[in-house]
Amino acid sequence: MFSRKFRQKFNFVFPTRRQAWRWLLPILLVFLFLSTLLWLPWQTQRMEANERQEQLIADTLWVEQTIRFQLARDEETLHLIAADITAGDTPEQRVRDRIMALMRNNHELSRIAQFDADGDLVISTDDTPASLSDLPPESLAAAEDARNARSPHYSHPAPPRNMSSPMLLDYHVPLFKGDEYIGDLVASYSLSSILSEMVPWWFAQDNEIAIVDQDDVVLDRRAAGGPGRGVYTHHRPLELDGITLSLRTNSVKGEPKLLPSLLVGSVIALSLGLLWSLYALWRDINRRLAAEGALRQQVAFRTAMENSLMTGLRARDLNGRITYVNPAFCEMVGIPAEKLVGKSPPMPYWAPEAMNEYQQRFSQVLAGRVTPQFETVFQRSNGERFPVLIFESPLVDDTGKQTGWMGSILDISDRKQVEDLNRRQQEKLQASARLATMGEIASTLAHELNQPLAAISSYTTGALNMIDSHASKPGSLDLEILKPALEKAGIQAQRAGHIIRSVHTFVKRREPSREPITVPELIDSVIPLIELQAHQFFVAINTRIDSNLPSVLADRVMLEQVLLNLTRNAIEAMHDVDPARRILRIVAERDAAQPQNVVISVIDNGYGISSEVAERLFSPFFSTKAEGMGMGLNICRTAVEFHGGTLTHAGNPDGGTIFRFSLPGLGDTFVPSAPDSAIINGN
Ligand code: ADP
Repeated sequence: MFSRKFRQKFNFVFPTRRQAWRWLLPILLVFLFLSTLLWLPWQTQRMEANERQEQLIADTLWVEQTIRFQLARDEETLHLIAADITAGDTPEQRVRDRIMALMRNNHELSRIAQFDADGDLVISTDDTPASLSDLPPESLAAAEDARNARSPHYSHPAPPRNMSSPMLLDYHVPLFKGDEYIGDLVASYSLSSILSEMVPWWFAQDNEIAIVDQDDVVLDRRAAGGPGRGVYTHHRPLELDGITLSLRTNSVKGEPKLLPSLLVGSVIALSLGLLWSLYALWRDINRRLAAEGALRQQVAFRTAMENSLMTGLRARDLNGRITYVNPAFCEMVGIPAEKLVGKSPPMPYWAPEAMNEYQQRFSQVLAGRVTPQFETVFQRSNGERFPVLIFESPLVDDTGKQTGWMGSILDISDRKQVEDLNRRQQEKLQASARLATMGEIASTLAHELNQPLAAISSYTTGALNMIDSHASKPGSLDLEILKPALEKAGIQAQRAGHIIRSVHTFVKRREPSREPITVPELIDSVIPLIELQAHQFFVAINTRIDSNLPSVLADRVMLEQVLLNLTRNAIEAMHDVDPARRILRIVAERDAAQPQNVVISVIDNGYGISSEVAERLFSPFFSTKAEGMGMGLNICRTAVEFHGGTLTHAGNPDGGTIFRFSLPGLGDTFVPSAPDSAIINGN
């Protein structure tokens, strides 16, 4: 019905056939249990109803028996009285007394009367009726039947003539002396008295009881406990001589109520609870299945990701024991995962010579002070060493508790090689740039060297002349005379040597090395070379070095190169301006934003930098000069950044450009203040 893809995606919603079977049995059992639970109260109710019905039948039977028994007793007494009358030897008064006694003792009787053969009243317990013919027709019919049959008869109940109540049931006992009819003894029962006297109160309280005739017409009823509900009813024939009446009982009780019953209530509550918990269980299991599925996917995804990673992953617990390594890590160190997991330090990939460093770092890890990122050296299983970059981060479980450390390990051998190559090329480039700079100032250099050399030459010539002039007068040569000339020649030779040395150190290709240097030292050492160019273009140099500047940890030659490049550009930018404005200013001061840093500014009054030039200023090989190499500023920026500083430029408000570079100061190492100096080379 659903596509396979769809089913796979919503696997937890559409259980497979096996899962469905696993569910089916408990669901069937639960339904069986629930239907039993529901059937039980229904069955109980049925039983209760049956019980009530049976009880009613038994009670009705009992009432019928009671009525019948009482009527039978009355009949017996009446028969005895009738026998006395027909015998004729009992005085009338005595008969009357016996009738009165019968009346007194049986309240269901409302009247007893004796009539003679003509129907005239002989004895009566009350005044009416005066003669037999005053009786209602139903009673007269019964009297007729009794006389004909010569046996007592009950009449169909009827009210007295011209009245509507009470309903009277007359019992006619025909009186015969031999074969001669001598009269009728009539006992009248009030039906309501029969019901009130002969039916026990407890029965009347629970049931409505009625006397009905054969046509089901209610003749009288008693409903002390209210009308019957028609739920439990019973019909019991009351067979009397000459007539059949019925007792109809109708319980005032209704059906046993289902809900109020504690049992039903608890069963329903229990069923609902059970259904709810079943539903909750089903929902929970579904959720779990969904979560499990998602988790499995996550795990598969993670495993695939970890396996495809080039970065090594290594997890350690709080004791430093390895709990996990990924394939990349195993490949990196050349040791399989099973030999690494569970290992405690020292690790098999630790290089013996770096053991101390590892131990130290490990104790830091245990103390909770882990270095988040560091470089170290690991050893492969074949003993080969390789540099690695490690990032450590705490491993935290879902309760937020730290359970260990996760490290990602990067094999940086390749990166190191590239970096080395880069560095070497940079050095070569810088050396070439320095050579180029030197080439540019070579003529000035030759001129500078020419002076000391010429001086040396003239001093030595002078000295030789002196020796020659005294050669003719042997022993008269005072060597003291030669001393000043030779000293001066020596000084000039030293000066030339100094120039040659500074050129040599500047041009020599070398590894950068940092040392603490003071800013005045730095500027002083490069000033002679700057002056060489400044002379050429008739530029005045004005330096201002603030007092209390911190030293900087720097490579002297690199910074000299920066200064030389910036000043050379500045000087060249001013070759067209008015000679009076050709002033190169070098200012060294504390950085206003970060006072621990030094800022050196090279300020010129040249032609300035247009926005197009500014965009490409630091690009390698960008130059606006006919013979420019275009590497100067690029090298400057690299060198400044190598020292942790920045190189920026801005327009000079007085016209020209300001190049500024900052250098991080070395703590608060103060250097003695250098007096402001102004060197003017203007001729
Ligand atoms: P090069 O000096 O060999 O041209 P640089 O990298 O030192 O190479 O300079 C690049 C360009 O920047 C220069 O050609 C010049 O146009 C411009 N420039 C550098 N410094 C200044 C300056 N102080 N004033 C004006 N322009 C400058």
